[in-house]
Amino acid sequence: MMPASRSINQDDLRNHNLSVVLATMSRSHAPLSRAALAKQTGLTKATLSLLSDILLRNEIICQLEPASGTTYGRPSTPLAFRSGRWAGIGMQLNTDGLGYTVLDLDGSVVMSDWHERAMDDVDPNEIFAELDQMMQSVEQRLSETGYTVTGSCLALPGLVSNGNRLLVARNFGWHDINLNQYAVVSRLNASADNEAALAAIAQIPGFAAQRTAEQWPIGSYDSFLYVSTDIGIGGAYVREGQVVRGDHGFAGEIGHMCVDMRGTLCRCGRHGCLETVAGRRAVMIAAGLADAANATRTDLLEQLVATWRAGDTRAALAVEEVKAALAAAIASTVNVIDVSNVMIGGLWSGFGDDLRADLERRVQSQILARDAVRVRLMFPPVTVHPSMYGAAVEGLRRLVRDPMRFVTEE
Ligand SMILES: [Zn+2]
Repeated sequence: MMPASRSINQDDLRNHNLSVVLATMSRSHAPLSRAALAKQTGLTKATLSLLSDILLRNEIICQLEPASGTTYGRPSTPLAFRSGRWAGIGMQLNTDGLGYTVLDLDGSVVMSDWHERAMDDVDPNEIFAELDQMMQSVEQRLSETGYTVTGSCLALPGLVSNGNRLLVARNFGWHDINLNQYAVVSRLNASADNEAALAAIAQIPGFAAQRTAEQWPIGSYDSFLYVSTDIGIGGAYVREGQVVRGDHGFAGEIGHMCVDMRGTLCRCGRHGCLETVAGRRAVMIAAGLADAANATRTDLLEQLVATWRAGDTRAALAVEEVKAALAAAIASTVNVIDVSNVMIGGLWSGFGDDLRADLERRVQSQILARDAVRVRLMFPPVTVHPSMYGAAVEGLRRLVRDPMRFVTEE
């Protein structure tokens, strides 16, 4: 711990300023000149020139061709993140498999892979050995192509405390595991985090990697509720561009909000949690597509969508139950935290805009402030393994948050 009385020294100040410059660049959807960066960060042009020199020398940023067509004055040189040099690694263990995504600071995906695999009551040693093997070749390829890994993060479907202790991942049957004991975690110095929190981070434009699209449904400092839906249902509340963690890091577990006091027993020990109605396993059984033994097969999803669209009664009733439960849980959450943007990721984002619009109407009609507030329910912009993507972003975040660790000043 830093003593509270310590004054800010030059290094702290430089680190802070470099971090502000990198964060400003990542949130901009177009490259910025030094003058534009100075204006947006509030730093002087002289300071900005010095900072950009450090970032250029350390190959974190590069200069693009000067923009022509300015009416007067010197053409300005836009600055951009240097491609092919810095990468964040995101890994994920989920109920349907394991994989990784490597993200370049410039926002492009360097490589990504996913192995589908049943994960019910699986042995953690076995899975971490598999992940380790997968990552060894990735690390080798990255170092051969000249990348420096800024950081790594692992997404898990459970409660993860600071210090990489997994308290519980019920859908794996895992309890109280020190994740640092696994070679892949310690070698990559990976931090572990909850899958929904990381999936939410993936949706924040320019959180650490370069924002690539101009069109995005939310801004970098917007607030939203993210609901992650699969076998388990998780969630995260992002307030003004930051995930709200709660007192211990466990906030956001909307899947274990009770929607039926006399409902089915949940794996958490309570009855009638949202997950017991709207989770993938629960809905496949309710729709008559599987029994408890084979309800986690991922190919069932297509069948569910098809039978639901064809008007099958059991499928329609199951989906109707899901909509009622999701709307009730989301409306209750909106009433508690007062947020107007809601993203539904995962399983239920595959059901199309009519389901989205229906859910939005239901939520709107159930919130207390319905006459004054309009809730916007949307599917997230990043839908392909968003937790893995968010984990890679979190890996890059170490560079943006603490650039002095990665630069030399001479
Ligand atoms: Zn529960």
